[in-house]
Amino acid sequence: MKVGIVGAGMVGSSAGYALALMGLASEIVLIDRNEALAIAQAEDIAHAVPFMSSTVVNAGQYRDLEGAGVVILAAGVSQKPGETRLELLERNAAVFRAVLAEVLPVVPDAILLIASNPVDIMTQITTRLSGIDPRRVIGSGTILDTARFRSLVGRHLGISPQSVHAYVLGEHGDSEVLAWTSARAGSVPLSSFAAQVGSPLTADVRAQIDDGVRNAAYKIINGKGSTYYGIGAGLARIVKAIARDQRDVLSVSISTPEVAGVSDVALSIPRVVGAEGVLTDLFPDFDDEEYAALNRSASLLKERADAIPL
Ligand code: ADP
Repeated sequence: MKVGIVGAGMVGSSAGYALALMGLASEIVLIDRNEALAIAQAEDIAHAVPFMSSTVVNAGQYRDLEGAGVVILAAGVSQKPGETRLELLERNAAVFRAVLAEVLPVVPDAILLIASNPVDIMTQITTRLSGIDPRRVIGSGTILDTARFRSLVGRHLGISPQSVHAYVLGEHGDSEVLAWTSARAGSVPLSSFAAQVGSPLTADVRAQIDDGVRNAAYKIINGKGSTYYGIGAGLARIVKAIARDQRDVLSVSISTPEVAGVSDVALSIPRVVGAEGVLTDLFPDFDDEEYAALNRSASLLKERADAIPL
């Protein structure tokens, strides 16, 4: 499958690098308003290819997206000093308006994979602006938070993250919800597994894991300015589910008719992802506290998305 990437900054190029190493795309086209950057990133990634795969990596113009099955949107601007979150959001909405006007006429049938932050709002905006079936406008959402959650739980229990079935729901951000009630290790409820291996999930351990998941990005940003390898691999993982029609259950963000009593909001819940985009939405079992937290997260996201004039 040919994959387009608009925005060849840290996140877009990391996604391209992960895709190229994993051999998931026949061809990758990188586009950026900074053409020299797109050319340099494409060349750098292309130099990694001979070690791992046969993906063709090029920089290009919007017309070069023709034939792409997935287009990753990773373009954006960063916060100016003194700028409010809403002002930043409005500037990023303007970037997306300009980008979509170029992308949609060339690849009206491509699945759009949204990476720019705040990703849930950008996904909702893209859905509204494009008029595309919402199931084909997919935000990376909590794919990475879910991976961090599984990794920390797996480490505590002494098992691989792949054997932990647990999801982070809601916003990719401060109001996200760790779904403990529905979490399993193998097929065993988490607390039972933890007791069986003698590593109980005490309130303290849960609080530490919650903090580790929720604040992971802040810690990385403090140390190196921004995060990109993790999300780059997460984006490649979503492309894999689409390109191979794998029907994987992934926590991704799409505009959803109703979640936890809130209508028409983009946020993450587990969803079945395949060649046609999102096939099915899944609602795990919640306890009352988780349901209330998801309702808060959804309400907050809806309020923010609705504040953006289109
Ligand atoms: P991140 O860490 O999120 O990847 P960057 O600033 O590294 O952030 O990357 C964002 C990229 O988006 C930059 O390379 C920038 O040139 C690009 N970009 C911004 N606006 C547009 C636009 N209108 N069209 C195409 N690319 C854009």
